[in-house]
Amino acid sequence: MNIPLLDIKAQLDPLYNEIMAAIKETVDSTRYIMGPKIEAFEKNVASYSGTTDAIGVSSGTDALLASLMALGVGPGDQVLTTPYTFFATMGSILRLGAEPVFVDIESDSFNIDPKLVADILSEKKRAAKIKAIVPVHLFGQCCDMAPLLALAKQHNLPVIEDAAQAIGASYPMMVDGVLTWQRAGSMGDCGCFSFFPSKNLGGMGDGGMIVTSDSLLADQLRVIRVHGDILTYDHAVIGGNFRLDVIQAAVLDVKLHYLHKWHAARRSNAAHYNELFKQAGLVEKGLIVPPKAVYQEKAAENHEVDFHIYNQFVIRTHNRDALRNFLLEQGVGVAVYYPAPLHKQKCVSHLPLSKCSYAEADKAAAETLALPIYPELTASMREYVVDRITAFYKS
Ligand SMILES: *Cc1c(COP(=O)(O)O)cnc(C)c1O
Repeated sequence: MNIPLLDIKAQLDPLYNEIMAAIKETVDSTRYIMGPKIEAFEKNVASYSGTTDAIGVSSGTDALLASLMALGVGPGDQVLTTPYTFFATMGSILRLGAEPVFVDIESDSFNIDPKLVADILSEKKRAAKIKAIVPVHLFGQCCDMAPLLALAKQHNLPVIEDAAQAIGASYPMMVDGVLTWQRAGSMGDCGCFSFFPSKNLGGMGDGGMIVTSDSLLADQLRVIRVHGDILTYDHAVIGGNFRLDVIQAAVLDVKLHYLHKWHAARRSNAAHYNELFKQAGLVEKGLIVPPKAVYQEKAAENHEVDFHIYNQFVIRTHNRDALRNFLLEQGVGVAVYYPAPLHKQKCVSHLPLSKCSYAEADKAAAETLALPIYPELTASMREYVVDRITAFYKS
């Protein structure tokens, strides 16, 4: 059996006519820059995410960059974030002349550890240089936002959620004594999404979005998106060309309607994997550790909440590289996210942060392996994957 890590065609086929009609409509409209299609999609993403505003941009990376620019992050500033994420999180901070200050992750969620954030912020001298916090909702599960938001408030720091992998993921939060589900991107000052084709809401090229309920910030972001005020040629701030492509917006707006269904399918695939792992005794023998949906138990009465949207289904194992090679030979598409934490990247080897060590991030980089989890994966495919993992440990 040949099982890819992601099968874009399986998602495309049933939507083919609907997507082609949306593309044709856009082409025929001859409105190729901004306009009503962008506005409609922005409105739909804002409403889906529970924010008042959404600003379509050219990529998830540019969403992060524009957000940091709008919040005034610049040379000499420090930004708290995780070393265990995609490069763009760190790259956008560095491109502005600022410096990331890494905080190690929690072993079960792979996300930034709020207790360690508190430790750093409790040191007055260190806290003084920090200008913002960028928590990353890795693999499709929100960071523990309640303590992070409390710390941010206490220290008057803006929070930019890197929700590139987590559009639609929910986090349980007490609001005025009532338990509510908050969507990724809606909890900080703003949240950044990516529509890279491998994300749960994937375009046919690059695209991104910033969501916020701060209308002043939204206005600033709209200005930064187009080089400042281009209507009057009066440029008070330096922006860029961060516009979302209209054809991408048309495609993504079609797909947005199916997102909840796809999330549910990924979650059900994850549940099936977990059952199969148990049956095979892989977990009790300590051979693999399945991903933990940290907030799922709080949803006992509401199974439809997407606490974990499983953009990736990431297991841990001690002989990861051998298992990866074996599964690839057996036709199972697996991948390592991420083989090295960011502080070990060559482009920062001259910075003091490269000398720091983050034990949990290092451990995750050595042990994690992503298995196929896409919505269209069939039961027999999942059985094959687990059968091959079991065979690996028997040999
Ligand atoms: C994908 C991703 C990005 C960047 O998004 P692009 O659309 O590829 O620019 C940023 N952060 C994280 C965590 C991502 O996974």
